[in-house]
Amino acid sequence: MSKKLIWIVITLSFIFSILIAFTAPVSQGATSRATAQIAPVDDAWRAALPRDPEAATTAYMARISPAAKARSDAYFEGGYWLQLVDLIVGIAAAVILLRSKVLVGFRDWLAAKLRVQWLIDTATAIVYSCLISLITFPLMVYEGYYREHFYGLSNLNAVDWFMENMLMLSISTIGMGIAIGMLYIALRRTRSSWWIWGAGIAISLIGVLMLLSPTYIDPLFNTYKPIADARIKDPVMAMMRANGVPIDNLYQFDASKQSNRVSANVSGIFGSAAVRMNDNLLKSSTISEIKAVLGHELGHYTMNHIYKGWMEIGIVLVIGFAFVKWALDWSIEKWGSALGIKDYADIAGLPLFIVWFSVFMFIATPINNTLIRTQEVEADIFGLNASAEPLGFAEAMLKLTQYRKSNPGDVEELMFFDHPSPRKRIYSAMRWRAEQQKP
Ligand SMILES: [Zn+2]
Repeated sequence: MSKKLIWIVITLSFIFSILIAFTAPVSQGATSRATAQIAPVDDAWRAALPRDPEAATTAYMARISPAAKARSDAYFEGGYWLQLVDLIVGIAAAVILLRSKVLVGFRDWLAAKLRVQWLIDTATAIVYSCLISLITFPLMVYEGYYREHFYGLSNLNAVDWFMENMLMLSISTIGMGIAIGMLYIALRRTRSSWWIWGAGIAISLIGVLMLLSPTYIDPLFNTYKPIADARIKDPVMAMMRANGVPIDNLYQFDASKQSNRVSANVSGIFGSAAVRMNDNLLKSSTISEIKAVLGHELGHYTMNHIYKGWMEIGIVLVIGFAFVKWALDWSIEKWGSALGIKDYADIAGLPLFIVWFSVFMFIATPINNTLIRTQEVEADIFGLNASAEPLGFAEAMLKLTQYRKSNPGDVEELMFFDHPSPRKRIYSAMRWRAEQQKP
């Protein structure tokens, strides 16, 4: 396979990407269309809501129109297949790069000019990342642009979407180059125990990312500003003080620029923690819904979910790197000489490293989802206790059915859901309401 083929593949990928972008439907008025899919209710409906949690949950679910349910089910289920497609396309792209020996050529060319090994590794990793992005660009356009517009979830036009993704790709490519440069130092220096050192480096870098992103990365994509509206700020701050949360500022950001999704988050570590609500949540929700959602976010904060999640990812990474070590040794033994890869610490073998790591992460998807989902269940209960707004919580969860399948089977939820299903979350609110004898 010649290097010419790489350029043919990249050119075709570019043409194909433009075709996909041009045929994407325009999602005009997506916000109004999405909210109109959930039947609005009044105080009389809420007053007549059955006490029984099962019956009350059914009443909430009945408000989702069949068309809206079919659409969000199709959107979410398509996401299951895309995970597999992503893996297969990623492997195919890696095979093209390995067979063409383009990284072997680049490594040798750079080694003749540079003596510093980690710089050679970092630069090769950046080139690898750029080539992979170019080859898989049509898939990215389909997933991130065409499909989001098809389901009325994106508000970005093609140019803005492209610019935003270029910025994201630049940041991730440079970040990944540096991370891989560091990882390969561990591969060379610590020999057969590299997997444990490598996992240590990866865990530390995740910490750096969590520390820096709220202040330095997120503001590149959205504008964050403190919430000044006392009608929102006062009750939320009161709830935070009541629960001993030492955060003194609330932020809002213009997520409506990108999509209509309703969300909020607590992000940042070591004092950079902040509560941030997106403008879709603020625009479309009542105070009780906002309190319920923020109560959930305070749960994440109070139960130290960021740190626990970081440790859990750490354990998954240690196991993953142990697997990659075994698989990398095996595959380089088998194909190394034919592909021009000298040994496991040779940066030209990076595509193999990434392939094995992606295979591991794909298989670990249900485990990772369950680790996150478990925290989400905890935060839901905390939020109900903190806000005492079961109806507000149920209403907010109903809105999430815009992009999340509302009522999956148990196995499906275990495999693919990183949050509990909307139906389960509404049920937990209705159970809280019944048991606590609240209106
Ligand atoms: Zn959460």
